[in-house]
Amino acid sequence: AEGEAEKVVDGFSDGDRAKMAESSEKHEFQAEVNRLMDIIINSLYTDKQVFLRELISNAADALEKARFHSVQDETFLGDTKDLEVKIEHDADAKTISIIDTGIGMSKADLINNLGTVAKSGTTNFLEAMAEGGDANLIGQFGVGFYSAFLVADKVSVTSKCNDDPVQHVWESSADASFTVVDDPRGNTLGRGTRVTLHLKEDAHDYLSEDKLKESAKKYSQFIQFPIYVKVKKE
Ligand code: ADP
Ligand code: MG
Repeated sequence: AEGEAEKVVDGFSDGDRAKMAESSEKHEFQAEVNRLMDIIINSLYTDKQVFLRELISNAADALEKARFHSVQDETFLGDTKDLEVKIEHDADAKTISIIDTGIGMSKADLINNLGTVAKSGTTNFLEAMAEGGDANLIGQFGVGFYSAFLVADKVSVTSKCNDDPVQHVWESSADASFTVVDDPRGNTLGRGTRVTLHLKEDAHDYLSEDKLKESAKKYSQFIQFPIYVKVKKE
């Protein structure tokens, strides 16, 4: 809030935010991503809860990759040995975070993987929409990472991978662009990714521990890594 000099929101102090504003790089989304985001943002009747399924599934994919590397290279896990997913919520900041200790993303990965749509499912979804399909198809096709924007008007992704010495912060408010910047706090993750959703007003219902636990339980059936829902605010 205004007037509180060192209030930390989403783990960043005002000082961190000032540094980030100074040195962040702005990138434009690929045209397909903008089309997808428009559909997602305007899809009033879609089952919004699919965002958690998609983000947990991305965390599980990243953890699986880390596990695979650790089998090839025993030093791979370093100090971040537990392969797990954590879900945190902050009722004051109105955020939900999905944190994994998976493979993480380098700066180039953040730009490429979260700035373009590479996967066929999303392309098929856009085609179905162009042919007059309903936005409710989002749940069926699974539009991946971008489903975060079903519930969030701003998404922050902090990531650290072994290949990149620097932890980065990717952010977008779905305005056709995103920013990438070195994390002014240094390496806070060890290894992995933290996706923080700044919830839209109509999605504040998700800030319930019971609701998050219920969803985590539902989706944990499909993944081989533990999911912890952190009790109380982050
Ligand atoms: P998909 O999972 O089908 O590839 P998504 O839109 O869900 O499509 O994610 C796009 C890409 O972003 C993934 O393929 C992966 O490379 C990267 N990504 C997303 N979330 C994470 C994460 N938690 N950790 C590492 N990489 C991720
Ligand atoms: Mg995915």
